[in-house]
Amino acid sequence: MKAVYPGTFDPLTNGHLDIIERAANIFDEVVVLINQNPRKQNLFTVEERIEMIQKSINTLKNASKISVMSGKGLTVNIAEGIGAKTMIRGIRAVSDYEYELATATANMKINPSIETFFLIARPEYTFLSSSTVKEIAMNDGDIRDFVPSPILEDVLKRLKQNQSM
Ligand code: ADP
Repeated sequence: MKAVYPGTFDPLTNGHLDIIERAANIFDEVVVLINQNPRKQNLFTVEERIEMIQKSINTLKNASKISVMSGKGLTVNIAEGIGAKTMIRGIRAVSDYEYELATATANMKINPSIETFFLIARPEYTFLSSSTVKEIAMNDGDIRDFVPSPILEDVLKRLKQNQSM
């Protein structure tokens, strides 16, 4: 069975990568989907995020079951279009749950053929988000434990570029 893991991934964190790996242990195929949302101001372009996710996935044992793509529009429609019946989301805390519950219920209304599947964050990653990573790195904190090692330099380089602007 094919599953889609949609998100912004700006940038990918170890929390995201853990969800991807665990999903690939359950499903035959996992497609990481970058939502193209022109209303969101992102640090990395979609192309950069695809490349960073690909580099990180390559370190996983089950990498051959995972792919990356980007898409515009409703995620349920993209999922259906590529033959996926399931969407994966991660839950870190009750605050995530409230938002995810509303989104999953709306998606159920829009397209009842797609099920949302939740994986809870590993305890070591419950605090971890893309914005936390950006905030820590921007203030010269150490993000080595928070982002996959193949993309560490990409993240640090971009934040340095931004600071000198
Ligand atoms: P979005 O803008 O769609 O929330 P994100 O890239 O922030 O995109 O997150 C994508 C998904 O991954 C969401 O379901 C989010 O709850 C989940 N997620 C984010 N960080 C973690 C983490 N540290 N552990 C587990 N799941 C996470």
